[in-house]
Amino acid sequence: MKNSFKVSIIIPCYNEESNINQLYKSLSEHINDFSYELLFIDDGSTDKTLDNIKAIASTNKQVKYISLSRNFGHQNALKAGYDSAKGDCVICMDADLQHPPELILEMINLWQKGYKIVTTKRNQDKSLGLFKRITSRVFYKIINFLSEVKIENGTADFRLLDKQVVQELKKINEKFLFYRGLIPWLGFSQIQLEYIAPPRFSGKTKYSFSKMLHFASDGITSFSVKPLKVSIYLGFLIAFVAFLYILYAIYISVFTDNAVAGWTSTIISVLFIGGIQLIMIGIVGNYLGKLFMENKKRPNYIIKDKND
Ligand code: UDP
Ligand code: MG
Repeated sequence: MKNSFKVSIIIPCYNEESNINQLYKSLSEHINDFSYELLFIDDGSTDKTLDNIKAIASTNKQVKYISLSRNFGHQNALKAGYDSAKGDCVICMDADLQHPPELILEMINLWQKGYKIVTTKRNQDKSLGLFKRITSRVFYKIINFLSEVKIENGTADFRLLDKQVVQELKKINEKFLFYRGLIPWLGFSQIQLEYIAPPRFSGKTKYSFSKMLHFASDGITSFSVKPLKVSIYLGFLIAFVAFLYILYAIYISVFTDNAVAGWTSTIISVLFIGGIQLIMIGIVGNYLGKLFMENKKRPNYIIKDKND
């Protein structure tokens, strides 16, 4: 007999043609005991991803797909999934088998024990590559220093949410989504599982270095206004140093005979202040740009095709 609840599994896919079949196969081994809905979000793939999904959907009514009109990015694809998931709990995972399907049962057990949110944390693993491990660690250090919500190093977009939590999440329509930060912010009873991430089953990572940088800067500026305050502290610091320097300059010109027109000190202070000002204008501009984009109230994604 099948359990009485329904599990939605959301899988954002961007050019994952070589992973879909294997993912479906390994998922099937773990989810056949309950009624489920497999919701593939095709994030504007240009390869055979959508064809592969459609082929699976034609053999299994529980497989659904949503195809976006272009590449809207991982987080927006996730939103598309959350917005149309119908299950009593909703799990999201990557298409490249880096999120082990065997964890799903454990997540569901914890959910049945009453946890509304089950998050996962990737254990630092050699197979990830030194570069990814270091950049990820630096990013989490910075974001935790700057923002009010705590996000643990290695938190993955592999989690289970109760229907109630998804209802709340759906109300959040911000343009620059960063679910890893939003989830701890939501509250409810949360618990975390740890896992070892195997290397990608097939294909290349869809997070290029520049995409990762954008993602990191969105994560920071969406959760903290502290960078804006930095200018105030820096302003005070520089004013204080300048004050000391003025005392020194007065001393030199009043009590000694070495008051030479100081080209060096002039050029250094001009460059220094100029540099700081540019940095601060950049930070302010970053937030202003976000306000501008947010204000347009454009949708996070556009659906081209779906089967439900
Ligand atoms: N992805 C997506 N849209 C994008 C980039 C990525 O839907 O613009 C999907 C991708 O297909 C995968 C998941 O998001 O299922 C995570 O991406 P990836 O494995 O490339 O990231 P990494 O594990 O290298 O951080
Ligand atoms: Mg991956």
